[in-house]
Amino acid sequence: NVVLSMRDISKTFPGVKALQHVDFTLRKGEIHALMGENGAGKSTLIKVLTGVYELQTGEITMDGQKIVNKSPQDAQKNGISTVYQEVNLCPNLTVAENLFIGREPRKAGFIDWKTMNRKSAELLRDLKIDANATDKLEDVSLARQQMIAIARAVDMQCKVLILDEPTSSLDDDEVAKLFTLMNRLKDQGVGIIFVTHFLEQVYEVCDRITVLRNGELVGEYKVKELPRVQLVAKMMGKDFDDLAD
Ligand code: ADP
Ligand code: MG
Ligand code: MG
Repeated sequence: NVVLSMRDISKTFPGVKALQHVDFTLRKGEIHALMGENGAGKSTLIKVLTGVYELQTGEITMDGQKIVNKSPQDAQKNGISTVYQEVNLCPNLTVAENLFIGREPRKAGFIDWKTMNRKSAELLRDLKIDANATDKLEDVSLARQQMIAIARAVDMQCKVLILDEPTSSLDDDEVAKLFTLMNRLKDQGVGIIFVTHFLEQVYEVCDRITVLRNGELVGEYKVKELPRVQLVAKMMGKDFDDLAD
C-alpha cells in the first residue's frame, strides 16, 4: 500500500549539504509527519520531490512506477498537490481567481467566470472557509488565505497532498477544520505529508513520523510507538537520557 517512495535523495547547495542519501516512504491513506529542526532539509525534500529542484541523485516512484517531475506542474500531473511553505497566491486577484489560476473552467475557449465563481463558492462552503469567491484576496485575513491555498491544492484531486507548515497563520478553529479535512482525505486513500513544528498536532493527527537532522534521515517511526521526549531527542540529536536531566 505504498503510494510514494523516494530513495537515496541528495541535494547540495553551494556550501550546504541540504540532503544526504535520504529515503522516504508514504503509504496510502496515512498522514505522515515530516519533522526536524529549522534547516533540517524538510522543505528541500519536498522541492526535490515536486520538481522545484532538479533530482540530482536517487529515484522517486509512485504506485511502483518511476516518475520524473521537472516542475510542480509535472508533479501535479503525477497526482502530487503541494502547499509550499512560502504560499504563492496573488494578492490583487480574487479568491476565485486564486483558486483556479492555471486551470480556469472554459467555455468556447474563454474563461467561464460564472462557473468559476460558482465552483469557488461551493469549495469555500465545503471547507467552511469564511470568504466570498469575488473578494480580493488581499482583503481576506492571512489565515483564510492559507486555507484558500490548501483548498486549491485539495481541489486538484491528488493521490499525495503535501502541506509544508500549513498552520503557521491559522487559529485553533482553522487548525481544527484543516484536521477534519485531512482525515476526510485520508479516508479516501490520499497520502498526506505534513510538515509541522507542533508536537501536539503530530500526536493528534499523524500516523507516522519521518525525522530529518542536518540533511540526514534519522528514522521513520509509528507515532504510537514514539513518545514525545524521544521525538524531541531524535530531532535534536541527543540521547533520551541527556534530555531526562
Ligand atoms: P527546513 O525546511 O527543514 O527548515 P530547508 O530545506 O529549508 O530546511 O533548508 C535546508 C538547508 O538548505 C538549510 O541549511 C538552508 O539554509 C539550505 N537551503 C535551502 N534552500 C536553499 C537555497 N535555495 N539556496 C541555498 N541554500 C538553501
Ligand atoms: Mg524551516
Ligand atoms: Mg521548511
